[in-house]
Amino acid sequence: MLSYRHAYHAGNFADVLKHTVMVVLARSLTRKDKPFFYLDTHAGVGSYDLASMAAEKTGEWRQGIGRIWSRPDLPAALQPYLDVVRAMNPDGELLHYPGSPRVVRHFFRAQDRMWLCELHPRDVEALRVEFEDDPQVKVAFEDGFHAIKAQLPPKERRGLVLFDPSYEIKTDFRTVVNAMQEGYRRFGTGTYVIWYPVLQRRVVEKLWADVGRSGVERAVVVEQCVVPDGAEGMTGSGMIVVNPPWQFEEQMAAVLPWLTDCLAQTGSGRYRLEWLAGTADSA
Ligand code: SAM
Repeated sequence: MLSYRHAYHAGNFADVLKHTVMVVLARSLTRKDKPFFYLDTHAGVGSYDLASMAAEKTGEWRQGIGRIWSRPDLPAALQPYLDVVRAMNPDGELLHYPGSPRVVRHFFRAQDRMWLCELHPRDVEALRVEFEDDPQVKVAFEDGFHAIKAQLPPKERRGLVLFDPSYEIKTDFRTVVNAMQEGYRRFGTGTYVIWYPVLQRRVVEKLWADVGRSGVERAVVVEQCVVPDGAEGMTGSGMIVVNPPWQFEEQMAAVLPWLTDCLAQTGSGRYRLEWLAGTADSA
């Protein structure tokens, strides 16, 4: 039985980075009129109430979106992300936070579609309610790692896959690379995103090395630490993006210094933007 519930963590510093990256990727897929497919292997419930008991219990969102929401000096490159959060809070008070499906859905045109996997029995029900009248969204009570074989390649031949496991099962660090590799083998032009927590540096380095040797031609890592390595708990988070779109690196470089300053909890914070395989020019 899964015990992780994202409601306790929604809108925290890691969600801010994750969803900023997803906004950059979704926007880049909508530059062309051609349809795209989005697969979210670990979808959560789609949207979160920041006044819920779960969110209040940890208060994590206050160190994430709570720090950004009212800043007057937001860099222009971060505006599209904040627009997504604003769309959920039309009265101007920060009460709701979008999950990854809502973030990507915000950019959908009539021709796009998504497939959402969620394995927690209660969360999958909430996810179904969230998208119940939406013909462009399908919700499945299934293991997201297994959905790769059934859903890829998509008929659209353009797509984005987010792997966002909770890593409750330690083998997820290996399983996620295997699943990405399987997806890449089936659909080599898709963009794949692996989210990871920074808990122990050696585990992160192993994940990077595994992706580096996985056979993918282009992969970039975006990481942000708000507390120095080695401190207790999750000190940062990162995302590995396989097949990043044109100018992804530039767009992240325009956001990361400000965002890291804003979210740092101890010391100055730190970010990385590095290629694990290939370079921007090898596209
Ligand atoms: N992607 C969401 C977002 O950004 O808003 C957050 C997802 S949360 C980190 C991970 C979710 O994956 C949890 O809701 C958990 O119940 C679910 N989960 C765990 N293992 C799974 C699996 N093998 N397949 C599908 N969902 C799984």
